[in-house]
Formats: sequence, structure tokens, C-alpha cells
Amino acid sequence: MGKGFFKVPVAQNEPVLSYAPGSKERDRVLEAYKSMYNSTIDVPLLINGKKITTGNTQTVSPPHDHQHIVGTYHLANQSHVEEAISTALEARKTWSQMPWEQRAGIFLRAAELIAGPYRAKINAATMMAQSKTVHQAEIDAACEFIDFLRFNVQFMTEIYSDQPQSTAQAWNRIEYRPLEGFTYAVTPFNFTAIAGNLPACMALMGNVVVWKPSDSQVFSAKIIMDIFEEAGVPPGVINVVFGDPVMISETVLSSPDFSGLHFTGSTFVFKELWKQIGNNIHNYKTYPRIVGETGGKDFIVAHPSANPKQVATGIVRGAFEFQGQKCSAASRAYIPKSLWSDVKTSLLEDISSIKMGSPEDLSNFMTAVIHEGSFDKIASYIDRAKKDSEVEIIAGGNYDKSKGYFIEPTVILTTNPHYETMCTELFGPVITVYIYEDDAFEDTLHLIDQTSEYALTGAVFSKDRYAAATATQILENSAGNFYINDKPTGAVVGQQPFGGARASGTNDKAGSAQNLLRWVSPRLIKETFVSPEDYKYPFLD
Ligand code: NAD
Repeated sequence: MGKGFFKVPVAQNEPVLSYAPGSKERDRVLEAYKSMYNSTIDVPLLINGKKITTGNTQTVSPPHDHQHIVGTYHLANQSHVEEAISTALEARKTWSQMPWEQRAGIFLRAAELIAGPYRAKINAATMMAQSKTVHQAEIDAACEFIDFLRFNVQFMTEIYSDQPQSTAQAWNRIEYRPLEGFTYAVTPFNFTAIAGNLPACMALMGNVVVWKPSDSQVFSAKIIMDIFEEAGVPPGVINVVFGDPVMISETVLSSPDFSGLHFTGSTFVFKELWKQIGNNIHNYKTYPRIVGETGGKDFIVAHPSANPKQVATGIVRGAFEFQGQKCSAASRAYIPKSLWSDVKTSLLEDISSIKMGSPEDLSNFMTAVIHEGSFDKIASYIDRAKKDSEVEIIAGGNYDKSKGYFIEPTVILTTNPHYETMCTELFGPVITVYIYEDDAFEDTLHLIDQTSEYALTGAVFSKDRYAAATATQILENSAGNFYINDKPTGAVVGQQPFGGARASGTNDKAGSAQNLLRWVSPRLIKETFVSPEDYKYPFLD
């Protein structure tokens, strides 16, 4: 154990680089992009620190250029998953006893590797294989990931410092033990930072992990694997398996040693996993922790006092950055009648200036959606909207998948506040707008609260403080992250802990100590200095 009360570096948010013309970072990221685009990588499984190739492979292609192959990855079969589990349990014997400062050292080193030598690589991989613009890649794959790693170390020490009262006669201590068994991280395609953070934060707290990345995030997952290896994560602590998510999850969740699920992805999948865990509950050695951050139907509501230009900017950035594929992306907006003409003018003007194409061309604000399944789903909603008399498409509405999965930024205007695109998560560059009567602000807030099953993010724009206060109160349960006069996206680790409730997740706030608390099982130790030697209490005399 440690021989000192060590202080960790005070966590600071990584500055976002500009990538302006002439900047060094711009040259570096474009060079890395070109080199990745013009070669191929082969991504193995990682089990017990060994790179396993299975021969059963899939290809990786950029969503904006889907006929071009940039790599292959290997799929696990059931025996690989079983090996990942047994290997993790073996590694647990030493890893769970590793002094915390050694674990901290590994993940702080990982943060600095990303900030320095891996920055261009991890950003270029995220641009190329998840179709993010350079700015979207920088705030995710570099900055948010670095912030998670740095802040988690600080949060860990804050948790460890939280100790009970003692007396002169007895000393009370709490040990924050890792969970007994192994944990399971299942990560989405849309944030490289989330993909890295979910396994890393559990490992930081002393757990061993089986990590299943998304098939659509394999390329940057490989860079994360390389960073963890170089940072010194020991063999077996984080094991990576790609492949059939149903088989992998069934194998993992049927193990008696399964002790925690850290999931980010869609609501349906999370509920299915929860159900499986429930079905297996009699087989487990311990009650598993279940953390899931899931879908959203995030809103912007403008009060008649709002600045229309600010509302339009909030919509454009909130709905269309990263093609609307953020769980926090604005996808329904409620605008008062008196403000609509001005909001609409700014909105259409902004949208007409948006360029879309490959992320390699840095003047593009948008690129492609992640895969054909997603493209077809979004296109089908747009097609239905074109035919429906309750709605009108006032911007965008075109799509083309001949080279990449491109969908124009699309604005649907509806007279039906319960129209399907006001309620369902599309996960694409589509926002639906409903115009309300100026004197119906409070009714509209109740409508927002009741319209969807989700409660992830939401924003109110208002210069009137009473109106902002009313919205904050009526929408108390409609969003886990609520914004006043700002877009509902762009949460920063350490500043806006992130997560939602209702069908949006367990709200265990990624980027805060609350999340890390789910990955430990406290043990209270009471040490009595002089033990009594007579069982009789004075009242018995
Ligand atoms: P997804 O649910 O399709 O996939 C997420 C993960 O689950 C992937 O690793 C996938 O392979 C796996 N998976 C898919 N089907 C499975 C099954 N039947 N059994 C077990 N695992 C399975 O989600 P996605 O498309 O990668 O990501 C988009 C979704 O994630 C959106 O709904 C979005 O709102 C949500 N999301 C939420 C947050 C948040 O913090 N609330 C953050 C990012 C993404």
C-alpha cells in the first residue's frame, strides 16, 4: 500500500485546438488522415495482452466513402469471450491489489499520450472512420477523452478521502474495493471518448474489464487499445472483443462472476441487457451494478423574449453538428409565433451556407451519417414527412448514399406536436419545429414534458428570468442536463456531468465522481483499540 497521502495533479480541461489554416495541428491531423486513408490496418482482439486474429473478419470503411476499405477487424467466437472472462478474473488477483497511485499513474500517462503523440492519430481515426469534422473529433477523441482520464483520477482520490467519523476508542475506515468478479463495457459508435472512458474508468477503480466496442468505431478503438498498452495497462485488465453483440453479451451475462455493466447506446439494447441480467440473477455471485446512458429526444424551447439569432444558432449547432448523431442533439424545437419569422430567416440562411462532404476538407461543417442502416432509417422518416399533410419540410430533405451516407440538414415544420419525428429518436440531421401561440408558454412546457419517453437534454432560450425559472421548474424531470440560453449539446467533463433519466438512462453522470462510485463496493473496517472483557452493561446491575 501507499506510504504517503499522495496528491494528484489538479485536473484541468484540455484546451481545444483551433485547426485554423497555417496551424501545426492542422498539418499534423491531415497528414495522419492521409496516411490512414491510403493504407489498411488489421485490428485483432485483445485478450490477456495478446493480439488475437481469428481469421473471421469484417472490413472497415469511412461512412463518407463507403466503397473505400481502410482496415479489417477480427470477430470473436464464444470461446474467445470465455477466455476474455477467465483472463480478466486471473488478472484481477494482482490488479485489484495494485496501489491506487500506480493505477492513477497509468491513466494519467494515457491522458498525456493523447494530448501529445497520439492526438493527431486518434483525431484522424475518428474523422475518417466515424465521419467527424476535425473540430468534432478534437472535442471528443482528444479533449473529452483526456478530460475523462484526468478528472477521473481526481474523482477517485475524492472518493477515497470520503471517510467516516472515528472516536478515541475506535477507528472507522472505508476501503473502496473494486467489484468482485469482472465488469463489462459496451460502447457506442458516436464518441471515441465514451468508448475509451467506459472501460478505463472501471479499470482505474481496480476492476477488470471485458470491453465490446461498436462495430462502427473499430478504427479508433484500435488507437485506444494502443494507447492503453503504451500507458502500461497490464495484460488481462482490459480485454477487447469484437463481433456478434448478442452472442458476446449472452456469454458475458451468463457468467456467475459478472459484476457490472457499463453501457452507452440505444434504449432498446440497454433494456434487453437489463432483462437478461434479471433473468440470470439467481446465477450471480453478487448483485451486478447496471449503468446505462441511452437515447434522447432533446428539445429547444424559445420564450417570446428570446433573441431569435441565438435560438437559430442553438438549433443549427445543436441539431446538425456531427450530423445530429449526439445523444444530446436537439431534435425538436418549440418556437413562439411572434418569434418564428425571425428564427426561420436566420435558420434558413445558416443552413444554406452549410457545406457537407468529406471531413478531410476542413471547410465542411457536416459529413456523412454512420452507416447504411442509419441512413435508410432517417431517409424513411423524411420520405414519410414529404407525404404527410401535417408537416412541411422547410429545409433539406434530400439524401444520397452513392458515395457516402449523406443526408442534408433537414427542418420539418409540424402542426401536430405529437408527430412521429417530435417523439422518436432518429439520430440524424433532422429537427422538427412546432410553433406555439405566444400566450401558451406554460402549456407548451407541459407538452414538452409529456411528448417523449426520454429525458436527456433540453434548453430554454429566454431573456425573461421569470420564464426561464418557470421552464426550469416545469421541465424538472424532462432532462438530466438542462441548459439556459445555450444549445443542449457539448457537455464538458468536470463542468457539466452528463446523463439523463426516464428512458435516457440510469443518470449516473459520466464525468463525475457519481459514476465512479458505481464501480466500487465499500468495505467498512472498525478497529476497536481496547476490547471490552465483560458482557454485562451497567443497566443490568
Ligand atoms: P447501439 O445501441 O446500436 O449500440 C451500442 C452498443 O451496443 C454497441 O457496442 C453495439 O454493438 C451493442 N449492441 C447492439 N445490439 C446489441 C444487442 N442486441 N445486444 C448487446 N449489445 C448490442 O447504439 P449506437 O448506434 O452505437 O449509438 C447510438 C445510441 O447511443 C443512441 O441511441 C444515442 O442516444 C445513444 N447514446 C447515448 C449517450 C448518453 O450519454 N446518453 C451517449 C452516446 C450515445
